[in-house]
Amino acid sequence: MLVEKFHLNLVNIECMPTSTKFNAIIDLETDIGDLLPYLATEIRGCTYFHGTNELNYMERGHIIAIRPKQITVTALQDEAEARQVCEELKRMINGVHERRDSITPTWRKQARVDPLSVYRELPQTNCGECGEPTCMAFAARVVSREMSASYCGPLLLQEYESNRERLWGVLEQAEYDVE
Ligand code: SF4
Repeated sequence: MLVEKFHLNLVNIECMPTSTKFNAIIDLETDIGDLLPYLATEIRGCTYFHGTNELNYMERGHIIAIRPKQITVTALQDEAEARQVCEELKRMINGVHERRDSITPTWRKQARVDPLSVYRELPQTNCGECGEPTCMAFAARVVSREMSASYCGPLLLQEYESNRERLWGVLEQAEYDVE
């Protein structure tokens, strides 16, 4: 097992004094730097450039940054959620470590879509059916992987078929879920 122990620190989000959420700083006892290119292959939608020693991705509303001896996770509710996320990360990292001989490492990957390229393909009626007040707000949530593009009901109509196909292509190329 590569990662056995970690030290968890929860910190307030200082730039947002009214926020009730926390960021977690997770210090690792083991250096996992050599595993980053393998994690880059396995983590959908991450960004990684070999040499920067940092891999970033978004999951369930958290921005996660993995470095050789430290992981940071944003926007956590409390310590219980932080501990749960730590255990999930530990399981995922150890799983990739065990399977690394069968994984082709990735040295460069940028899986992020520009919100405007999502917005461009939306109906742009601000109808609110997706639960967001505007199509631009919806595009931002799609880009941050908090919502699937298929939550836009009007986009699934026949009249938007070509927009939908273009958007699905852009999102799939960047490893977004479109279902
Ligand atoms: S459902 Fe689609 S068209 Fe309506 S506001 Fe949301 S993104 Fe815009």
